[in-house]
Amino acid sequence: MQRIGVFVCHCGTNIAATVDVKKVVELVRFEPGVVFADDYMYMCSEAGQEKIVAAIKEHDLTGLVICSCSPRMHEKTFRSCAEKAGLNPYMVEVANIREQCSWIHKDREEATEKAVILARAAIAKVNLNTPLQEGESPVTKRALIIGGGIAGIQTALDIADAGYEVDIVEREPSIGGRMSQFDKTFPTLDCASCILTPKMVEVNQHPNITLYTYSEVEGVSGYVGNFDVKIRKKARSVDMAACTGCGECQAKCPLGKMGKIPSEFDRGLRGRSAIYMPFAQAVPAVPVIDRENCTYFKTGKCGVCAKICPSKAIDYEQKDEIVTVKYGAIVVATGFDIINLDKYGEYAYNESPDVITSIELERLMNASGPTGGHLERMSDHKQPKDIVFIQCVGSRCDDEKGKPYCSKVCCMYTAKHAMLIKDHWPDTNITVFYIDVRTPGKNFDEFYRRAVEQYHVNYVKGQVGKVIPQPDGSLLVQGVDLLDNKQIMKKTDMVVLAAAVEPNKGVRKIATMLTASIDNNDFLTEAHAKLRPVESPTAGIFLSGMAQGPKDIPETVSQAGAAAVKVVGLLAKDKLKTNPCTAKCDPMFCNGCSTCANVCPYGAITYEDQQVRGPGVNETRRVAVVNNALCQGCGACTSACPSGAMDLQGFSNRQITTEVDSICR
Ligand SMILES: Cc1cc2nc3c(=O)[nH]c(=O)nc-3n(C[C@H](O)[C@H](O)[C@H](O)COP(=O)(O)OP(=O)(O)OC[C@H]3O[C@@H](n4cnc5c(N)ncnc54)[C@H](O)[C@@H]3O)c2cc1C
Repeated sequence: MQRIGVFVCHCGTNIAATVDVKKVVELVRFEPGVVFADDYMYMCSEAGQEKIVAAIKEHDLTGLVICSCSPRMHEKTFRSCAEKAGLNPYMVEVANIREQCSWIHKDREEATEKAVILARAAIAKVNLNTPLQEGESPVTKRALIIGGGIAGIQTALDIADAGYEVDIVEREPSIGGRMSQFDKTFPTLDCASCILTPKMVEVNQHPNITLYTYSEVEGVSGYVGNFDVKIRKKARSVDMAACTGCGECQAKCPLGKMGKIPSEFDRGLRGRSAIYMPFAQAVPAVPVIDRENCTYFKTGKCGVCAKICPSKAIDYEQKDEIVTVKYGAIVVATGFDIINLDKYGEYAYNESPDVITSIELERLMNASGPTGGHLERMSDHKQPKDIVFIQCVGSRCDDEKGKPYCSKVCCMYTAKHAMLIKDHWPDTNITVFYIDVRTPGKNFDEFYRRAVEQYHVNYVKGQVGKVIPQPDGSLLVQGVDLLDNKQIMKKTDMVVLAAAVEPNKGVRKIATMLTASIDNNDFLTEAHAKLRPVESPTAGIFLSGMAQGPKDIPETVSQAGAAAVKVVGLLAKDKLKTNPCTAKCDPMFCNGCSTCANVCPYGAITYEDQQVRGPGVNETRRVAVVNNALCQGCGACTSACPSGAMDLQGFSNRQITTEVDSICR
């Protein structure tokens, strides 16, 4: 039997307002093994921890139960505190009487009863705890960034500048992400490519950075400090070392002149050739052949690009290549896209070429865009005299069509668009239909007010019900003005939809490979929303940029720097402590059925022939063996094992059932 000390925290009034802390102390005193029980205002404070250390020494405690907040918050604190007093840290259990009790109950009596039950379960468990020893594993001093937008670029540069090697895997032919599609950026209205291109070039030239563009992550195994990542380098059909980026191949590709292949970069507003660089400042400045559309790949005829390439860089025989690289840390920076507007038939997006999205407008206003920066309607190439912007298309929705969250950047980029248009074409009438204008951020509200006060943009609080294309080529916008309480029927030349942002396609696959969690909207989840905002709950996986939630460029860059610091902090260590709560196989009961290995997400279980001796048994048998360095203690094998041979140290079947029994007694 252990000598257990129970410490009940008030957490100010967080716990004490709902739970009768003194009563909990009095009731748990009589539980088996408990030799000491006390309460304190803040157990995690220095004074609280000193109390624990003193009690361990004075009462010769061999086990602790701390009744406080979630173990995610302070388990580490209390384990270190126990260690200071010479107690094995794994002899500490935390009973969560805050998040799982005081915060969710109102009735004081019921909450107190539940707190006692939770404490009792933890006491029952600690009675069965055994000291566990942490192991050590080496750290591979190289980081992987998935996604080469501004988030990935900044994270990579910060890590590389700190002296560590970094690889960026970007699935498109060039890095740059969304920002490379923009003309000017709020809140300063500086030219997007003037600030992004130097960073892209720096990435390409940095001695510590390796770029894998037109590449994707195919598989991830391993664990923090030691990830093995399979990267598929898709065949570009162009020899990167030989290509000089002269552009001859694109200019001469017969399909380019036809303009039938929609340019993804220009959101389909113009065509591109089958061999192409997405944009002029692409990094690397090497084209790819789009094999699905290329005549040579479809029919075996053509071959113009190979014939005219002065450096003989075209390689039709090139194959996808798989490389496996080891990393100590991985950063997910896969960014976002805007939602598909098929469900929003009321705005006539699929009916009229003059109803466009905000990203399409960015391309139309960009000097290197499809119209050379001249704003024109796609239907008749005339300059629009009247433009309507519709905010919150698919954002802040309570129906199933859209997203419940605010996309955060639309109010600001719409003010930006309105001012840029007015700067170039001051006579344009601009109306913005909005639900609320949300402009928190340094100089953001001033920016929006400039659009209203200096540029006389007409902001109408109200929603648009329908956009109806008219026979004369104009668009009829039906909406409401909520402040004047009147219906609006407005003829306009162009409608711009501020469509909701959402995580980039494929993020689920990435999250599954990394065992990183995502929320209901597929944004990656942080380990702690306030205290660990750039770490995922999975050790060694970090988050950067829009993949974690809607944010603008200044916020993205700050988060990228924060993620980089976390990565550098990890890579700076030579060794990491490993979790001793790993699975263990009892060969007596194992029949080598492979069920455990099949469910193990970390590839930690192998099989070997072992001499098994026990009551009535003495034979050589194929049994499961756990690699402690790989095992992350998820417990999947223990619940899957049909013969009960697998158990988790620190969370054994006996410990769990004893906890449950004590709750039910
Ligand atoms: C219309 C519009 C205008 C905007 N204007 C401004 C502005 O003026 N100022 C401002 O501050 N903010 C603006 N923003 C917000 C800005 O776009 C974002 O803050 C920024 O782009 C986020 O960068 P990111 O790197 O996280 O994501 P992204 O720019 O989306 O980059 C993500 C990258 O990851 C790659 N990727 C995705 N999945 C994978 C995968 N599975 N494997 C490998 N690579 C992958 C993508 O190809 C992409 O290159 C605007 C947004 C919109 C929609």
